[in-house]
Amino acid sequence: MRSITLEKTNRTPMMQALVLDDSIRLGQLPRPEPGSTEALVRVHSCAISRADLDMIAGRVAVQVRPVVLGHQFVGTVESVVDPALERWVGRRVVARTRSGCGRCLACRNRQTWLCEAGRTHGVGMGLVDGAFAEYVTLPAAALVEVPDLIDDDEATFVHPLAVALQAVSQVEGPTPQRVLVVGDGNMGLLVTMLLHAAGHAVTVFGRHPSRRDLLWHSGIGFTGINESEDGRIEVESFDRQSYGNVLECSGRDSGFKLAASAVRPRGQLLLLSHQPNAHAGVDLSFLVEHEAMLVGVSAGPMEAAIEYLQRKTLDVLPLIASRHPLSEGVGATQTALRRGTLKVILENDSPMPPRSR
Ligand SMILES: [Zn+2]
Repeated sequence: MRSITLEKTNRTPMMQALVLDDSIRLGQLPRPEPGSTEALVRVHSCAISRADLDMIAGRVAVQVRPVVLGHQFVGTVESVVDPALERWVGRRVVARTRSGCGRCLACRNRQTWLCEAGRTHGVGMGLVDGAFAEYVTLPAAALVEVPDLIDDDEATFVHPLAVALQAVSQVEGPTPQRVLVVGDGNMGLLVTMLLHAAGHAVTVFGRHPSRRDLLWHSGIGFTGINESEDGRIEVESFDRQSYGNVLECSGRDSGFKLAASAVRPRGQLLLLSHQPNAHAGVDLSFLVEHEAMLVGVSAGPMEAAIEYLQRKTLDVLPLIASRHPLSEGVGATQTALRRGTLKVILENDSPMPPRSR
């Protein structure tokens, strides 16, 4: 009897996870246990974001190794410790990267991503193990429920869509505006689709001619750019200083330069790229010469993104390049790192455990 009890206590359940060590590898880790204010979430699927790829490729430093990345996930809450959080169990959720203090001006304005306390829980951001795994634990305060009308694929877009919505809400002037988007990756295309749906006349500058067809059907103009080895860019056709609103989504110095030269006097440049140290040496004289504005966008309201997805006014699914089982996660990251690849999604392919409650 005793030996059975002992064996049971010592047997920590293990789980499959994609671990970033010196390189990315598939590993077996102990299933995480939630702390008193946390929830244990069984992951359904998790998108590989640009931030993940920057850390995997070594473009951005990772503070903890080994670590499990992945924050653009959707899953179901499996258990909580605090009975006051019991209502979350069984709910399908996504998570904010910041829980918010709930007291500061930003939090009271429902802009938790700007919380003055500044704390991030760091889950999946290279600080605390994230959702490229069967399970993840995170503060219950960061959870946002996903309604049934939104499927798992769509739910992995809540994060980037929140950023895109925030950017589009900052576009100045009456609709329609002529708006330029620089960059045709996931974020560039997402803001383009939103701007178009909002009634603006959008032009996209991008490096992938294949996007032309994707956008053509919606009547959105695509202009191809070519970048030489030394970072100089050639544009098919281009009206300098003619856009009141330019959104820089490429994350590249060349993209920033191009975007800056497109802003008309007293116009604004919205910067959505996240890469630290990028743009370090860029020329900001256009801000003074043309009395222009530079506005950063880092995150956005996830509730608004969920509402938007629920209305089905925008089909985000064409942005999915491929889905891969978690057990083939290493290959999936290689695919995602390939230039021009849109959204790559990891799906938890481990069998559902029997429910203990
Ligand atoms: Zn706050």
